[in-house]
Amino acid sequence: MKRTIGIIGGGQLGLMIAEQAHILGARCIALDPAPDAPAFAVCDEHIVAAFDDANALEELCRRSDVVTYEFENVPSGLLVGLERKYNIKQGFRPLFDSQDRLREKENARANGLRTVRYAAADDEASLRRAIEEIGVPCVVKTRTLGYDGHGQAVVRDTGDIAKAADLLPAPLIVEEFIAFDYEASAVAVADDKRAICFPVGRNIHKDGILDLCIVPCDDAATGERIARESCDFMRRCGYRGILAIEYFVRDGEIYFNEMAPRPHNSGHYTIEGCSTNQFRELCRYLLDMPLEEPRLLAPTVMKNILGCDLEAAERIAAQHLPDVHVHIYGKTVCKPLRKMGHITFTATAAERYRNEWADKFVR
Ligand code: AMP
Repeated sequence: MKRTIGIIGGGQLGLMIAEQAHILGARCIALDPAPDAPAFAVCDEHIVAAFDDANALEELCRRSDVVTYEFENVPSGLLVGLERKYNIKQGFRPLFDSQDRLREKENARANGLRTVRYAAADDEASLRRAIEEIGVPCVVKTRTLGYDGHGQAVVRDTGDIAKAADLLPAPLIVEEFIAFDYEASAVAVADDKRAICFPVGRNIHKDGILDLCIVPCDDAATGERIARESCDFMRRCGYRGILAIEYFVRDGEIYFNEMAPRPHNSGHYTIEGCSTNQFRELCRYLLDMPLEEPRLLAPTVMKNILGCDLEAAERIAAQHLPDVHVHIYGKTVCKPLRKMGHITFTATAAERYRNEWADKFVR
């Protein structure tokens, strides 16, 4: 009988997990509060419910053989209870460790990764002390629930402290501002036997949102080091399943920024760019199948398509070009800065992308 993967979250990550699960012969059921969640179009069943609805989460678990999450802010307290009764194969711990930026960085350091300097703050007095300790420029972030640059303020001089204090009363972390050479991320998957890591690319953000992922990154030795250290980190932590880690790279040194125990936007290029992809390897892990070592097939560029570029992406899709793979997530509400899809340009190095494609997009 076919096995069923339960997915907490029905966004584009859930959609792509379900596509790969089907290729491996499994069924999927997703839970999401939005009745028009993208993954519902592909999943075999779905549940419309809030992420903190204990009964609905339990129903998802009951109807699944194995459960995963694509949404990071599931209350981990709820998962702890469910983990005892059901097969939530990655467990709650990597999720718990990633849900608070302070805990996340402490954990990264304790398990062999370097971070920038940081200090915690929870009121105006401790914020001022933390900024003094770290020095300016620094970045003040909310410890929980931040994403794509939301809940952050850069403090360049004392005049900016009031702007950072607006983030209170949320608990905060103050980080040294790093003038990085570039950002990179690793997507690793581990089971009891081995850990694999996808080839590491260079990430380019615009307005705090990932814009391009260029693979491989210019500096092969750093890419390999990031991959190796990410696998070692997973082993040390005892994590299983999938883990994405974002790093800053400066002068050949790598600094952990944040992690997420789910497929990652920077790993979308793997669908066509590698011999196996992040969604399929997660499914292999969930379905107790042996992991496959990924191989980059050719230089690849992934471009995120936000609402402002949806029409351009649709025009490109209509041309059915070789080496141009357009993914549109089918979201019913389009906003200028909402992720609506992505395009993977295979057999395309950064220069070719810049010459042939960059000017086709507004953003
Ligand atoms: P995050 O939510 O931590 O991924 O931050 C969003 C973006 O802000 C990152 O991709 C960086 O471009 C930038 N950023 C975050 N933290 C720092 C930092 N400590 N120094 C410099 N830039 C940062």
